[in-house]
Amino acid sequence: MPSEWKQILTQKVQFYGALADEDKNRFEQSILQFFDQVTITAVETKIDDTDRLLVAASAVIPLFGFPHWAYRNLNEVLLYEGNFNEDYHTSGVDRPILGMVGSGAMNRMMILSKPALRQGFEDQHGKSNLGIHEFVHLLDKADGSTDGIPEVLLEQPYVIPWIKQMHEEIKQIQTNESDINPYGASNESEFLSVVSEYFFKQPKLLESKHPKLFALMRSMYQQNLA
Ligand SMILES: [Zn+2]
Repeated sequence: MPSEWKQILTQKVQFYGALADEDKNRFEQSILQFFDQVTITAVETKIDDTDRLLVAASAVIPLFGFPHWAYRNLNEVLLYEGNFNEDYHTSGVDRPILGMVGSGAMNRMMILSKPALRQGFEDQHGKSNLGIHEFVHLLDKADGSTDGIPEVLLEQPYVIPWIKQMHEEIKQIQTNESDINPYGASNESEFLSVVSEYFFKQPKLLESKHPKLFALMRSMYQQNLA
């Protein structure tokens, strides 16, 4: 990997910066492998190496505990200049969407708003990261159903405890007793993506506030970041 790229990763990707040298090397290899398998396309905007690296980092982070795993359900990531709506329009007033995993004609594609992707890595004290959010949807989808239960990651004995914990945490969000982004209470699949952003960005905080959830996610992702 070119040294300029390593520099970008060091500056922008907290997760990478915290890794030991040996793991940094593995992270870089995974990024290169991602570039081999997935095309990143700019739509009506310009992108640079940083944008490409942030997309790849978003893909590599959730799977870093599974060295032999790759995304088999993705060919292309489109980067848009901003928010968009359900018809993929990037202009006009009502454009609530920042990112999505495509279905139907858009199957095997992901769309991300470029500024929102960058924002997720710039804001190092928050609990959100759009790129990680969307790649976790892709992992969730890999077993055929986007339902908040990523069977490709979750070993069988953990499935029932995960579902129980998920429902308990969603209930706490709904009764305003949680610091998890309320969007996570939309449904199980959004819950998984939202708490995964939290897990990878603020692992220590998640461990202290939601120890049971953290323990399940540590087994799920095979990573102990706290
Ligand atoms: Zn989502």
